[in-house]
Parts: sequence; structure tokens; C-alpha cells
Amino acid sequence: ATRSIAVTNPATGEVLAQFDTQGPAEIETCIRTAQEAARQLRATGYATRAAWMRRAADLLEADREEVARAVVTEMGKTIVQARAEVTKSARTMRFYADHAEEFLADQPLAAPERVGAGQALTKYQPLGVVLAVMPWNYPIWQAMRFAAPALMAGNAGVLKHASNVPQSALYLDSLFTRGGFPPGSFSSLLIGSGAVASIIADPRIAAVTLTGSEGAGRSVGEHAGRAIKKTVLELGGSDPFLVMPGADLEKAAKTAVAARMNNNGQSCIAGKRFIVHTDVYDEFAALFARKIAALSVGDPLQETTDIGPLATLSGRDELAGQVDDAVTHGARVLAKAATPAEGTGWYYPPTLLENVGPDSRLFLEEAFGPVAVLYRAADEQEAVALANGTPFGLSSAVWTNDDDQARRIVDALEAGAVFVNGMSVSYPELPFGGVRDSGYGRELGAAGIREFCNLKTVWIG
Ligand code: NDP
Repeated sequence: ATRSIAVTNPATGEVLAQFDTQGPAEIETCIRTAQEAARQLRATGYATRAAWMRRAADLLEADREEVARAVVTEMGKTIVQARAEVTKSARTMRFYADHAEEFLADQPLAAPERVGAGQALTKYQPLGVVLAVMPWNYPIWQAMRFAAPALMAGNAGVLKHASNVPQSALYLDSLFTRGGFPPGSFSSLLIGSGAVASIIADPRIAAVTLTGSEGAGRSVGEHAGRAIKKTVLELGGSDPFLVMPGADLEKAAKTAVAARMNNNGQSCIAGKRFIVHTDVYDEFAALFARKIAALSVGDPLQETTDIGPLATLSGRDELAGQVDDAVTHGARVLAKAATPAEGTGWYYPPTLLENVGPDSRLFLEEAFGPVAVLYRAADEQEAVALANGTPFGLSSAVWTNDDDQARRIVDALEAGAVFVNGMSVSYPELPFGGVRDSGYGRELGAAGIREFCNLKTVWIG
């Protein structure tokens, strides 16, 4: 076994813990136990599963400080945001405990005319064991927004978490059984990405969900396609954030900072490209630049820190490469916050760029860190064209005080969501997912729990 699964503190570069990678025997035991759990879960009622889920939510909340600290030391987000992630995850567990039965209720249908007086209905049944391949950016939340609906639907889950967040993976491994779920209902495998293909091919695995990069999505989608298995893919995004004349610019700029800088800039639904109408461009740019330059970058365990280090050294180098490339091609730096001294962690300064043209990588690529790019649009049409001008289509935001304009832009944006006069946020109540290279399928809401169900049509003569 290799020890490639490690906890490395992004604020210091120090290796805090190392774990053995699990091998074929452990994978076999995990899948077998999960299959047995799926059989049992299918036979339990919603009330029983909801009671277990609520108990698990209580446990997670009771463990909040310890879990939040583990998350900070693994991936560098601020302690304040780590606590919020835990709270939101517990809320989502309760949301599905409360609503799963209603979302998956039988639906009577009008019987087809040809067959006369028969009755018809649809029902949702669990698929079995679902493999979840999850990323490090929200180590508890990303896994939970799959796990809570999956278990409430009566599925079992096997989690292959990102290799840099094993503490979160191990915490989640025991959480649901502590709440009362049968052993194997939800478990973690400490394995590298190379082991994923053979698990997807295993006949006992019914479906796969992945949140992560486009490359990982293509690979998982390919293997699942060969095995004819349902997939949900939540991939990257380079979300547009449009600001039109008449919008409250102070509020828009404040929200823009939150949208871009949340989670140290490492969120798939972060606003990344700020597309501003020329009439308000200079004023918005000045407000946005001032706020970015004022961000406090430093130790993520400090309560007052706005921005911690990036999660990985390679991620920071990638981001630095994108910014350097843009500057080489004529981009201007409008703001740059101060960072702790060189050599003390994987920090990257929150940065605002303008004048990024099509010859720069950043024009089409996702920036996974605290770097915002401003674009000037001559009119609404150009703003929409710029917004739709990347291969992604995850979420989007538009600021305007003109209702007709809002309606036109909502219809025109090629994205899985549009937030008007606000920023993209994932809520348990609202479906979440993308189009184009951002993936397909939906998580959260009623749509999310139905993804890993068999929609069974029943006709009774
Ligand atoms: P990855 O896509 O590499 O990692 C996400 C998960 O997928 C991890 O569990 C990883 O495992 C696994 N994985 C990676 N490659 C494969 C593969 N070929 N087959 C099966 N599983 C695989 O994300 P990174 O950590 O490299 O992050 C880089 C980029 O990913 C970011 O720039 C961003 O674009 C995107 N990303 C998007 C997120 C989102 O929320 N949509 C979240 C995080 C990243 P392992 O860790 O063992 O490699």
C-alpha cells in the first residue's frame, strides 16, 4: 500500500497525518456491506430513515467545532466558513428527513385512453448502491448533498473522497451508522482515483455521482457509459456576474466580493467573470477594487481572516500561471491584497484583473482561487454574449433594476441557474447543477433526490 492519502496543512505545508490506501480486499468488503445495507434500507420506511437521519444531523452539529477544525487543517478554508458548512450540511439532512416522502410520493396519472378504465401511477424506488466521487473544496457539504437524499431514498452510498481530505472522509464513514443506519449504508474508501474505474464496472454498483474537474467528469462518464450506469456530473464553472445600469452598485460590489472570494475563491459556483455595462463600469470597478484590496489574508484558524491559503500547492501554481499569462497578454491588475510572508503556506493574493482578452487562458478557463476578472460590455446583448462565451454553464447572476431586462437575461443565459440581484448559493431547497461542460443532472431539491431512483410506471387493469 502507498501512503499517498495524507493531511497536509495548506497554511504551513506541514504533513499532519498519513493513511494507507485501501486495496482490493477492503474494497470488496465495502461494496458487499453496502449492498447488504441497500437491501435493508429499501425495506425500511421513511419514518425510520428520517429518525436515523435526524439523529445523525444532531451528532454532526454536536461535533461541529471538531469537524470544522479538521476541515480547516486539511484544505485551508476559514474556520468561520467551515462551521457554516457543517451547519448547512446538518440543515440539509433535516430537510430531506422532512421532505423525502413527499418528493418521492406515488403520483397518479390519467390512464391512457386506448386502454380504457385502467389506473396508472408512477413511483420512485431506490437504485441500490451509488458510488460518490467527491472533491475537497467543501469536504462535508459536497458529500452530504449526495448522502442525505440518497439515504432518505433508500439507497446506500460508497464515498471516494478527494485524496487530500481523509479526515473528513473518515468522519463521514461513521456518522450515519452512529445515527442508527445499518452498517454499510454510507462508507468511505481511502483510495486513489485509479481505483474508481473498476468500482464503476462492479455489477453491484448501480450509479455514480461526481463533483470535480472536467477531466475527472469525462473519465467517470466514460466508464459509467460503458457499464450503462446513471451518472450525475457536477463539474467546473466560470460563472458570469452581470452588472447593468440602475443596479445598486455598492450592494452589487459587496456581493461580488462574497461571490468571488467565498471558500478562498475555490467554489464551482463562484462568480468569476464580472461583466459590467460600460455606463457603470468605472464606478463598479473602483468599488470592487477597493473591497478586494482590503481583504485580510492569513491564518484560516483566526476568526477575523477573510481568505486563507489555497488547498493545494499545485492549485496555487495553476492560478498563478493563469494570472501571469493574462498579464503577459496585456491584462491590468486593478487590485491586489497583501498576503503573509512568502514561505508560510499556499497563499495567493486576492486579485482583480481587467483587459483580459481572448488570447489569455483566463478568458475561457476557470480560475479556482481568489482572482476576479472584469469585462466591459457596450450593451445588454454584448453582456449576454460574453456571459455565454465559455464552454461552461453552471450558474450565473445578474444585477439590474429593470424587470423586463431581468426576464430577458434570465432566459438568455446558458446556465443551470440564474440569481437576480444576488449571488449563486446552493440551498437544500433549490435544484443545483449545470449544462454544457459544467455537467448534467441535478442535486438538491426534489430533483436531486429523484436522480438516483427508478421512476417506475405502474398500470393496473
Ligand atoms: P479533481 O477532479 O481531480 O478531484 C475531484 C475528485 O475526483 C477527487 O475525489 C479525485 O480523486 C477524483 N478524480 C480525479 N480524477 C479522476 C479520474 N480520472 N477518475 C475518477 N476520479 C477522479 O479536482 P482537483 O482536485 O484536481 O481540482 C482541480 C479542478 O477541479 C479545479 O480547478 C476545479 O475546476 C475543479 N473542481 C470543481 C469542483 C466543483 O465543486 N465543481 C470542486 C473541486 C474541483 P483524487 O483526489 O484521489 O485525485
